Amino acid sequence: MNLINGIGTTLSNKETKQELLVKGIPSSPGLVLGRAVVVIPQPIFVISELISSDEIPSEIERYKNATKIFSDEIRSLMTKSKSGKNRNILNLLETNLFILEDQFLSDSIENLISDGLSAEMALVQEFDTQKQFLLNSHDSLIKERAIEFDQIKHRLIAIIRNQKTPLKAGKGSIIVCQSITPAEVIKMHEFGVVGIITEIGGISSHSAILARSFDITQVIGVKDITSLVNNGDFLIIDGNTGIIQINPVEESLEAFTVKKKKEKENKKTLGRLIRLPATTLDGKEIILRANINFPEDMESMQTVGAYGTGLVRTEHFVVQKGKFPSIEEQLEWYDEIAHQCYPNPVTLRLFDIGSDKTAEGLPVHENNPALGLRGIRFLLQRTDILKIQINAILRSSKLKNIRILLPMISSIEELDQTIQVIDDCKSTLKVQNIPFDDMIPIGVMIETPGAALIADELASKCDFFSIGTNDLTQYTLAADRTNELIAHNFDSFHPAVLKLIKMTIKAAKNHNIKVSLCGEMAGHAAATSLLIGMGIDELSIVPSILLEIKKRIREVSDEESIAFANAIFECRSVFDIHKKLGLI
Ligand code: PEP
Ligand code: MG
Repeated sequence: MNLINGIGTTLSNKETKQELLVKGIPSSPGLVLGRAVVVIPQPIFVISELISSDEIPSEIERYKNATKIFSDEIRSLMTKSKSGKNRNILNLLETNLFILEDQFLSDSIENLISDGLSAEMALVQEFDTQKQFLLNSHDSLIKERAIEFDQIKHRLIAIIRNQKTPLKAGKGSIIVCQSITPAEVIKMHEFGVVGIITEIGGISSHSAILARSFDITQVIGVKDITSLVNNGDFLIIDGNTGIIQINPVEESLEAFTVKKKKEKENKKTLGRLIRLPATTLDGKEIILRANINFPEDMESMQTVGAYGTGLVRTEHFVVQKGKFPSIEEQLEWYDEIAHQCYPNPVTLRLFDIGSDKTAEGLPVHENNPALGLRGIRFLLQRTDILKIQINAILRSSKLKNIRILLPMISSIEELDQTIQVIDDCKSTLKVQNIPFDDMIPIGVMIETPGAALIADELASKCDFFSIGTNDLTQYTLAADRTNELIAHNFDSFHPAVLKLIKMTIKAAKNHNIKVSLCGEMAGHAAATSLLIGMGIDELSIVPSILLEIKKRIREVSDEESIAFANAIFECRSVFDIHKKLGLI
């Protein structure tokens, strides 16, 4: 057995069939065994030689055949999406089909082939022309559709060249790839993929968050993994330690079975906590809510007995559809969540589109997207989109269990302007006699250092806070949450981040509003006692780890947590804090 220690190896396992261990960064827990599907993006090199006139009919046939295969693939996915719980992906597929079967586009490609270009060359030329046309638009939404043309072009070329793609990933398989986008994670969930290994990516990226919410085990930052693994190799991935076993030997498989049995027993023990309160030994209750991304997540939220949702990432609806949903579609979605959650609260965060949620083409291409047109900044520039969403939320608020959460607020002006838009929408609904919750609570995400520093002012104008430690850490420490190269710099236990959390909690208490924490830190068992000691009221967590955190809350006392938090604040370095938290 070989152990390749850490990231940076170039050893190849392709010829040897012996077991190989590699280690990456654990990013979504779980222990899974499956067959590898290796995805290597192929650069498109097209030879620009002209074809002879007798090759024209067969080249047109190649192009038509590829279009048919791809259309059939999409149609079959659409049928599955219609009957299954992932029907929201339908619109994204419909758009792809619409482009693929566009008569003007296929006529142009066939004309180019008739002029002497190969099928591949004609495809690249026509798709690139269309893409450029979209990129030249002044409308950012049209511009963003360009990426779909690229994706369709790549798939068609791959079919023409007979290349395998992740579309063949079957139930129980493990995807091995360079990187993965949030939309691709959604697709992998569709296919029943149980594990993902990537060469690049950050543990707080939205792809990683989605993998956790879909219970897909994931390890990231494993350099050269796409060359170490062959298609069809057996893999064991441990999402808790980051260890990957390639072609495990008999004894490793036995050890895997034993660990799985333990995992099952542990789940059973945790299951006993579902109906018990999340109360410390000395009686302080911490409200535990669930982070959800789709209405389908409601089931797992209810299974673990969460007290409603503390964060619904509504932008995933946009990512899944590939475009902004209509008011009717949003109404249906929010109504479903509100009804299923009732009487518990639902916290709908306005579309936090931008940053790493742009891969699907939303919003515009920027040099520094994480510092760009994201969240509330985008919405305040596109009040048409903002108003539709607020209208849909207000109309769904009849049960009075919906709360609105504003993403990426960094100034009082942004809060004032958003409240003004909400008030305008309310006035219109009143004139139209449409019922809604006039007292709908409005919360602010504290996820920029700027917001934390003006938390006192913000608290005086809103109903609750939710601390987004993923972004708060990224922006405080200038550490890109999606970049595995600086994963060690991205640390929510850094004293600077903790100070900002403390300031936020203090401001909330001063203004008598509740403060929740909904970043990934909320699901970190090492953080629980510290956060209780700092005075957090609520934690919002991915359902799969909620019971672990409840267990932890029930093991500590508020009094000892306060002393523990004080001791942590005495520490001057990240190292000392980690030591106190038992992380090293
Ligand atoms: C956060 O930033 O911590 C957060 C919860 O929001 P998101 O992860 O969606 O950016
Ligand atoms: Mg955030």
